Amino acid sequence: MKIDILTLFPEMFAPLKTSIIGRAVDGGKLDINIVDIRDYTLDKHNKCDDTPFGGGAGMVMMAQPIASAIEAVDPEHTARRIFLSPRGRTFNQKIVLEYAKKEHLLFLCGHYEGVDQRVIDLYIDEELSIGDFVLTGGEIPAMAVVDAVARYVDGVISADSLDQESFASGMLEYPQYTRPQEFKGLKVPEVLTSGHHAKIEEWRKQKSLEITLKNRPDLIK
Ligand code: SAM
Repeated sequence: MKIDILTLFPEMFAPLKTSIIGRAVDGGKLDINIVDIRDYTLDKHNKCDDTPFGGGAGMVMMAQPIASAIEAVDPEHTARRIFLSPRGRTFNQKIVLEYAKKEHLLFLCGHYEGVDQRVIDLYIDEELSIGDFVLTGGEIPAMAVVDAVARYVDGVISADSLDQESFASGMLEYPQYTRPQEFKGLKVPEVLTSGHHAKIEEWRKQKSLEITLKNRPDLIK
């Protein structure tokens, strides 16, 4: 899968070079291209933002550098072009699976007050929010979305992990334990060390149900 990320702050994407995503990139399973929008400005001072027409606080990212960057990295419009924005539809696991089927994704990260609307009208397929709150920029949302989608790219993580986790079956995950068997007076539930697979399965389903009912009853139809 190819992923282009357009940003004014490329240095913020260092985390994508580490851990599971970093290994997937090194192994050629993911091609993540961080694009500095400033490289595409035609302004001699590299200016990429200006005050909003109509007045108001803050600065707005200018159309030209973003438009030129998108035209350079996705000239044939093969990518699903996504603008990270609090105004977008809210990200969830269903959208993760939808994006995971695409071969090419392009993420535009806003900053300051956002981007000139004409970029959205002319170049963007959809606006996507990671929740009902406002962050300073689209970089952290882009990383969250890329991380969640990358897990579903073939070979990035084991299929078993994806089958048995929160949301996969419509419920939240059961509690997990590892060594030691006792920690600060708390023991691992006996069933998990019994070796009885059917009973373990039954215990996990019951715990999943309890946790989902407690934290996210809306997930249970
Ligand atoms: N003025 C905008 C508004 O009221 O909707 C908020 C701009 S915000 C300070 C700057 C940028 O951060 C946005 O353009 C967007 O790219 C990103 N951003 C902030 N919150 C976000 C969220 N919940 N989901 C996705 N992107 C977000």
